[in-house]
Amino acid sequence: CFCELEGSINDCSCDIDTVDHFNNVKIYPRLQSLLVKNFFRFYKVNLKQECPFWPDDSRCAIRFCQVENCEEQAIPQGIKDTVEHSKSAAFKYTREAQSEGCSDAEDFNSALGFLDTSISDQAHKEFELWAKHDEAEEDFCIVDDREDGAQYVDLLLNPERYTGYRGDSAHRIWKSIYLENCFGGTNETTNKFSNYVPHLDLRNVCLEQRAFYRIISGLHSSINIHLCSKYLLSESKDFLDPQGIWGPNVKEFKRRFSPETTGGEGPHWLRNLYFIYLIELRALAKAAPYLRRENYYTGIAEEDDEVKLAINDLLAIIESFQSHFDENALFSSGIASIKFKSDYKEKFRNISRIMDCVGCDKCKLWGKLQTQGLGTALKILYSQKLNLATESGIWDKPHIEADPIFRLSRTEIVALFNAFGRLSNSIYEMENFRRVLR
Ligand code: FAD
Repeated sequence: CFCELEGSINDCSCDIDTVDHFNNVKIYPRLQSLLVKNFFRFYKVNLKQECPFWPDDSRCAIRFCQVENCEEQAIPQGIKDTVEHSKSAAFKYTREAQSEGCSDAEDFNSALGFLDTSISDQAHKEFELWAKHDEAEEDFCIVDDREDGAQYVDLLLNPERYTGYRGDSAHRIWKSIYLENCFGGTNETTNKFSNYVPHLDLRNVCLEQRAFYRIISGLHSSINIHLCSKYLLSESKDFLDPQGIWGPNVKEFKRRFSPETTGGEGPHWLRNLYFIYLIELRALAKAAPYLRRENYYTGIAEEDDEVKLAINDLLAIIESFQSHFDENALFSSGIASIKFKSDYKEKFRNISRIMDCVGCDKCKLWGKLQTQGLGTALKILYSQKLNLATESGIWDKPHIEADPIFRLSRTEIVALFNAFGRLSNSIYEMENFRRVLR
């Protein structure tokens, strides 16, 4: 069976069977019940942002591409309030953290009392702008949930599944994403099975570049597994009716991933899914102390308590995993790696801009969510502030608590958990395909 993957996942120290068992038995069921909760199902996103690279070629005429709007009343008030609250909370927190380090803060404050009252508004605004700027520097993706045009989307009303989006528009997106992996090298060759997606000879590139390719390829596999597992098996004759019957399509899965139809690449693409899974898993483990302190506030007290308990339980399982991805393996070769890291960040930000060019709203929604989740994971793993604290020897190993002002917005947390949920779901679905193929 071609998808019976064995052996170690290249660049990681654990095997496929271990991840399968861990995910399918421990992680997947927990995430399934967590992600339907109000806190995680409403995602704020801007689907109207203009494509910065080429004229819009939107395919939203495809009926399965439409995103169903949710009723304003359906969104818990606590969620709507939290966004505003967390912005000012971050500002306040930053100010407090600053004055804590100043022993004669009281004197300083009273001496400047007059000045403070006259310029405080302006100063606060500037401070807030700088705080935002500093935060954005850490981001691996563009967060556009505060722009005009951002809206809440109920993810449960809009499941990721087959939409019919394909052809030149989809290929242009994938091609542009893979092309972001050009770090000035010339090690791309054209894959004879594809004249649009550049193929990278993984033997001749450095670890960071290989990792970049694996991450993108793993995301690509995950998206395509979802469309195979929730394929349109039968549709209504009425063109305006978006209803249909969705289910697994083994033939489609085979076409996309078997060695015969992919020049032997398919199984590697599936392996890459495990690679990105382990990266996001590690990010969740690293951020666990921070994520435990979050309130997951929706204003529905009973549910909020349940979510906090479920999060604690999930994080404990994640932390117990033995073979985490080692983030220190990347960007560890001195000065050159600092430049590499900043290029990496810029390239991931570009990928989030490319998502604004996806010509199918439903695909755009999930594409944006998954790139934001991935960007959040990378921010956790490679936050400059966390690593500076580590390098200076204050902490033994990078730890989220090393940085008192490290923070994630609600949108980032929702994206992080949902993106990981998508990868977990893909690994679970692969088990089903494997079973049928056997
Ligand atoms: P594509 O998947 O378009 O791939 C193009 C080429 O890339 C392949 O021929 C192959 O050479 C190479 N390739 C394929 N997989 C991998 C991999 N894992 N790693 C490395 N190289 C690979 N469609 C839906 O029905 N539902 C969705 O929700 C959806 N979401 C999408 C989100 C985004 C961001 C994008 C860009 C597309 C999305 N699509 C979605 C479209 C879908 O991903 C395919 O592009 C489409 O089904 C056409 O498939 P294809 O067989 O032509 O190959």
